[in-house]
Amino acid sequence: MIDLHTHSLFSDGELIPSELVRRAIFTGYTAIAITDHGDLSNIEFIIPKLVKVSEELNRFWKIKTIPGIELTHVPPESIKDLTRKSRELGAKIVVVHGETIVEPVPEGTNFAAINSGIDILAHPGLISEEEVVLAKEKSVFLEITTRRGHSLSNGRVAKLALEKGAQLVLNTDAHSPFDLVEREYAEKVLLSAGIPENLLAKVFENSQKLIKKVGY
Ligand SMILES: [Zn+2]
Ligand SMILES: [Zn+2]
Repeated sequence: MIDLHTHSLFSDGELIPSELVRRAIFTGYTAIAITDHGDLSNIEFIIPKLVKVSEELNRFWKIKTIPGIELTHVPPESIKDLTRKSRELGAKIVVVHGETIVEPVPEGTNFAAINSGIDILAHPGLISEEEVVLAKEKSVFLEITTRRGHSLSNGRVAKLALEKGAQLVLNTDAHSPFDLVEREYAEKVLLSAGIPENLLAKVFENSQKLIKKVGY
C-alpha cells in the first residue's frame, strides 16, 4: 500500500510522525506521505519538521516517508501561492482539501486547486465535469478516500474520472492508527465506488507513478 494523504500530531492526527510510519509498516505499507492540514499560519512550522523526520526515517527504515501538506480551508485565491511556498519549504506532495460534502470548504476550491500545480485533490465531493476534465489536462490526481463522511461522494468522483480519463488515487486520510487500511480493504472501497475490477491495479500504480515523479 502507498498512502499519500495522512495526518500526524502536527495537525489533528493522533500520532507523532515516527509512530504513524511505524504503524504503516506493520499494516503493509511501502510508502506514506504525511500531509498535515496547513494554511499561511503554519506551513513554515510543519513542513520543515516533516522534511527533517522523513530524512531520518528514510535513512533507517525501508518504507518511504514523504513530507507533504494538505492545504485546508484556505481562500481559493491563495492556493497557488501557498502551493509554491509549500514546495519551496520542501513539501513533495501537495494535497488540497477539496470541496467535500461534509464540511463548508470555500466554493471554488476544487477549481483553484486544479489550476495551482498541486498533486492530489482530496475528497472533491460534487466536483463538476469541467473540473474533472481540467484535472486530466493538468495531471492532478483525484482522490478516492476510505475516510468516513468524505467517502460519501466516492461514487461520483470515480464515475466522472472514468468517463473523462482523469487519474485516481486511493488514500486513507488517516488521523488515527486505526484509519490505516490493508490492500484488501482498499480494493473493496474502490470496487464499491464503481471502479471495475480490471482497473483496480491501475489506481494503485498511479500512487507509485506519483511518488516516482517526486523523486522516491
Ligand atoms: Zn481533507
Ligand atoms: Zn486530510
